[in-house]
Amino acid sequence: MKKVFHNNINPYVQYMYSYPHKTAYRALAGISLRDYARVMAGKGHGLYLHVPFCQGKCGYCNLFSVTGQGTEAFDQYLDGVERQCGQYKEILTPYETEFSELTIGGGTPLLLSEDQLDRIFGLIEASFVMEKDREIGVETAPNQTTFEKLGILKQAGVTRVSMGIQSFSDEELEALGRKHRAKRAMEALELLKCMDFPCINVDFIYGIPGQTVDSLLESLQKALCFEPDEIFLYPLYIKHGAGLVHSKTAPDWQCAYEQYQNAARFLHAAGFRQDSMRRFVKKKRPRNFSECGFGTSLALGCGGRSYLGNLHFCTPYAITRETCLKQLEEFEHTKDFSVISHGIVLSKEEMRRRYVIRHLLIRPGLPLNQYKKHFGSWALEDFPVLKEWIQQGFVQIQQSDGIRDSEDFLTLTELGTGFSDYLGPVLISDNVRERMKEWDEIHESFGNLVSGEPEKL
Ligand code: SF4
Repeated sequence: MKKVFHNNINPYVQYMYSYPHKTAYRALAGISLRDYARVMAGKGHGLYLHVPFCQGKCGYCNLFSVTGQGTEAFDQYLDGVERQCGQYKEILTPYETEFSELTIGGGTPLLLSEDQLDRIFGLIEASFVMEKDREIGVETAPNQTTFEKLGILKQAGVTRVSMGIQSFSDEELEALGRKHRAKRAMEALELLKCMDFPCINVDFIYGIPGQTVDSLLESLQKALCFEPDEIFLYPLYIKHGAGLVHSKTAPDWQCAYEQYQNAARFLHAAGFRQDSMRRFVKKKRPRNFSECGFGTSLALGCGGRSYLGNLHFCTPYAITRETCLKQLEEFEHTKDFSVISHGIVLSKEEMRRRYVIRHLLIRPGLPLNQYKKHFGSWALEDFPVLKEWIQQGFVQIQQSDGIRDSEDFLTLTELGTGFSDYLGPVLISDNVRERMKEWDEIHESFGNLVSGEPEKL
C-alpha cells in the first residue's frame, strides 16, 4: 500500500474549532450577562445569530438544527430573538458596544422567508451598533439560494456569503444525505456570482464513501469556474448523533489524507493561500489576523455560543431532534435572557491553552512574544510538547510573516497543517478531557463519535 501518512498517526481525531468543546460545558448558577458586559465595551466584537432550521438533516450533521418546521415556528423563534435583542441592547448601551462582525449561521438561514430575513436585519439594526466597515457574513445552502433572498442580503450590506456545496457529484451528495443536487448548486453559485458579493466562500467535504482523488479534484475544478474567494475543505467526521453513525462504511482516514494532500496541492497551484488545514483563500485577499484567543462574541438565538473573556456559554449541547426542540421551546419562553445558566468559566491555565490552540492552528501561527506579554511565561516552556513537535517537523519558528514587526511565530509546517486535527486535541487539558469523556459516556446511546461540518460559533 502506498504510504501517504506520517508515522501511522491518524490525522483525523477531532476538529478543534474552538476550545473547550461544548461537551465540557456544565450548568452554571449565579452568573448574569450584566456582570460580564464590560468585556464588550467599545469596538471590535463579534455578533452571531443562529438560525437552527434546515430542509433536511444531512447524514453527517450533529449541529443544533431541526427539520420540518414552518413559517409559524420561524416567527415564534424570531419573537424570542427580538426579546433577547431588546434585553441585550439595554445591557450593552452603557458600554458603547460596537460590533465589527455579524454572522448569521445555522442551520440554513435562507430557509426563512424574505419578510423574516428583512425582520432579522431590521432587528439587528435597531438593537446594536455596527462599526462602519463591519463584515456581515451569511451561510446558505443551494436549495434555499434564490435571487430574491440574495437581493435582501445585498441590500442589508452582506459582505460574505458562504455556501455548503460539499461535492459536485450527485452520488457523493446522496452518500452524505444532502438534499440538493449538483445542478442546483451550479445554479445557486451562478446567482451568487451575479450579485457580486465582496466574498464568496464555498464548502467542500472529502473522505466521503465512494469519493476518489479524481472526483474530489473534479468538484474543486468545477468550483473554480465560479472564482470563489475562499474554499473550505472539511474532512468527513461522523460523530455524536449524526445519521450516518449507523452506516456500515467506516471512514478510511488514509484515503481521506491522500485526498487532502492532492486537493491542497491543486488549490495552491490554482493561486490559493492555505491559512489552515481547512481554509484556502485567494492570494490577493488580505489575511485576516485577529486576537482569536481573546476575541469576544455574543450569540443571539438558541444553539450559538458566546465568548466573553473567560466566560463561554450557550444552551446545553443538543444533538437529537427531541432535545433541540425542547431547547427551542425553552428559549422561546425565556423571560430573562441575562441569566447565564450553562457554560464554562475558564481558569488562567485554560485561557493559555485556548490562546495556543486558537493561534497555532491558523496562519501565521502562535505569536511567541505576544504570548509572553499576555501570560508572563514562554509558550514553549508552558507546553513542552511544542518543542517535541518542532523536532518532529510539525511546527517551526518563523519571523513575522510581514504581519507584525519583530514577532516570532510558531507556525505549522506543511506536514503539521495536514495533521491539525491530530495536534489540536493533544493540547486539551486533563480536566476538559475528563468532562468531554463524561458527556460521551452519558450520551453514548447516540453512537460513537459522530459529526461532520464543523461546530459553529
Ligand atoms: S449540515 Fe448544515 S445544512 Fe445539513 S443539516 Fe446540518 S446545519 Fe443543516
